Amino acid sequence: MNAMVFLGARQRLRQTKLPVPQPAAGQVLVKVGACAVCRTDLHVVDGELSSPKLPLVPGHEIVGRVTESGEGVTHFKPGDRVGIPWLGWTCGECSFCRSQRENLCDRAKFTGYTLDGGYAEYIVADARFCFRIPDSYSDAEAAPLLCAGLIGYRSLKKAGDASRLGIYGFGAAAHIVAQVARHQGRQVFAFTRPGDSAAQQFAKSLGAAWAGDSTSSPPETLDAAIIFAPAGELVPQALRTVRKGGTVVCGGIHMSDIPSFPYSVLWEERTVCSVANLTRKDAEEFLALAPHVPVRTSIETFPLAEANEVMARLRNGKVRGAAVLTMG
Ligand SMILES: [Zn+2]
Ligand SMILES: [Zn+2]
Repeated sequence: MNAMVFLGARQRLRQTKLPVPQPAAGQVLVKVGACAVCRTDLHVVDGELSSPKLPLVPGHEIVGRVTESGEGVTHFKPGDRVGIPWLGWTCGECSFCRSQRENLCDRAKFTGYTLDGGYAEYIVADARFCFRIPDSYSDAEAAPLLCAGLIGYRSLKKAGDASRLGIYGFGAAAHIVAQVARHQGRQVFAFTRPGDSAAQQFAKSLGAAWAGDSTSSPPETLDAAIIFAPAGELVPQALRTVRKGGTVVCGGIHMSDIPSFPYSVLWEERTVCSVANLTRKDAEEFLALAPHVPVRTSIETFPLAEANEVMARLRNGKVRGAAVLTMG
């Protein structure tokens, strides 16, 4: 099969022929239809996430069809369409797994980071961590739901019942979260890179009440803010926009250092928290909710072989919505 393989920090992905993997007990073999490109893939390739499996096939927003089931797999059969997210395996035994926090599992394995991912024509995955995809989405439309959607949804839950919600960084996750937030009756205030009027227009087209530069103040005090951009300086900026008792949620896996800031911007019971990974419960909830909103993903599709070019576009902020590799 064709795959894009990553060999080490700060290298381009290399297109390689690999044998089609075989499903072990409990696994399914999936023919990949589409795999979205996530900022986390950039963090892996740029060496900002330090311990990838090498060589590695990146990609963790995968939609495809089961072609073969390993021994003991009963709930998926060949022909079923499945999604494969970032969380690829958990131990089921540690204190986190036993307290409904498998996202924090001590021994978790992650698709496209410590397990081979979906920048490939085939993938094997643990069937317990695969999900049915709503019929109303094509493979490419559904792919961004698997991380941008799931991590975005978990971030939104961390924002609590905030009715005025700020979103910093209006990319793949934000464009999905904004739709869910609007569906829940919240007001969305979108913050983009200074001067990115196209992203601000995009946010408004998805129902944002206001859109502006990340350095500017919103017209109203916010109840919570979610930061998807990997820029640490946004943390004190966002804290300054939320009211007493408000929350700032950091939704990314990596962020540049957070500059020091006066205690007064945190005081009055403001909270800063991060979101790590996802649980299978998040996936089940969000994939059931998405078609009811209905979440519509804005995608740009590219052939698998163009993975390096797509990553460069994402790095430069040149992707509107989500970039998706299709396997043809
Ligand atoms: Zn565990
Ligand atoms: Zn991701």
